[in-house]
Formats: sequence, C-alpha cells, structure tokens
Amino acid sequence: MALSVRYERDGLVLPRAIGGDAAVDLVNTFAGWDRPSAASAREYLQSYDHLVLWSASAGLVTDAGVDALRRAGRRDPAAADKTLDRAKQLRSAVHDLLSPEGRAAATALGTVQELAGEAIAAASLRWGPPVTLEFAEGVRRPLDAVAWRCLLFLGTADASRVRACPGQDCGWLFIDRAGRRRWCRMEWCGNRSKARAHARRRQVRG
Ligand SMILES: [Zn+2]
Repeated sequence: MALSVRYERDGLVLPRAIGGDAAVDLVNTFAGWDRPSAASAREYLQSYDHLVLWSASAGLVTDAGVDALRRAGRRDPAAADKTLDRAKQLRSAVHDLLSPEGRAAATALGTVQELAGEAIAAASLRWGPPVTLEFAEGVRRPLDAVAWRCLLFLGTADASRVRACPGQDCGWLFIDRAGRRRWCRMEWCGNRSKARAHARRRQVRG
C-alpha cells in the first residue's frame, strides 16, 4: 500500500515525517511554502494538541507525557495558544534558514537563539556522563524540546544538505545526503508533476 502524506493519531491529522530530522519535519508541518497564502496551503499545527502529538511522534516528548501535556494545555489555553504561535515562529525561522531562498538569516537566527535559550534556561541538566537534558514540565515543553533540537540540527553538516521539494503546494524540506533526491516523495509530488506536464503537452497538441 502506498504511504499517504498524512495520517491520524488520536483522531488528529498529522503530516508524515520524511525530512530526516525532527527540525526539518517541523518545517513540514506546513505544506505550500511556494504559495503560503493560497487556499491550497495546508496547516497541520491546527491546535496545541496537534503540536503535542506531532512532538511525540517526532520523539521530542514521550508518548507517556502526551495526556499530561494536553491536560495542561486545557487548563491554561492562553499559554497553549502562545506556545503554538511560538512554535510556528520557530518553524518559519527554520524554514528561512534551510530553504534555498534562505533570506533574513539574522532575524531567523535570533528567533532560534531566543527560543532555544529559553528552553535551556528552564531545563535541568543531569550529569551521567554524558549529560542529559530534561526540559521543564508544563505547556511549553514541546516548544522547548523542538527549539533545542532545531539549534542542534542547524549546527550539523546535514544543515547544508537540505533541499526543498519543488512540488506545487508542497515545498517540504528533506536531507539529501546523496545529492540525488528531488521530491519529498516521488508518489506524492513527482508523479503529480509528471501528470500535469503530460496534461499540458496533450493540451498543446489538442
Ligand atoms: Zn513535495
């Protein structure tokens, strides 16, 4: 069976992880980077609960912690909304840094630094060795975990191997270590693009 671009977890629709790192897959919680304001663009982070479940699927928070986070979000909806907004700001910043357009790097880096800084300031460090990092309990936890992950990823060699899918209403990012990958997945964007090109050729000949 072909893999679908989205799937459901606890009744919420989430995007499939294809980026190769949670930092890259954060960017892919939005589809349609080529035309972000078009009606066909798709926002997957519809609510704080979506952010929590996405974070758990990405391995950023534990599955066991999901229910407690969702309850915390319901107890403090203003904090949950703010956390969601900040996660989307982080997402835009990481997209700006990793996408080929790569614009406004200073502003984007400032956002990553601010959010990752807040995360580490509130975290507990435990010495093993190695050191382990426990992010603060509470509504912000998924944001803290993903902000820290983004900072770490941006410091790896893979950050310079990220490419963007040229598919219409896509723009998803992925790590392309072999330098040969063009599409997020051939069966999602590659085949659609080929079908559209084929239809155009038929029209011209028509
Ligand atoms: Zn695509």
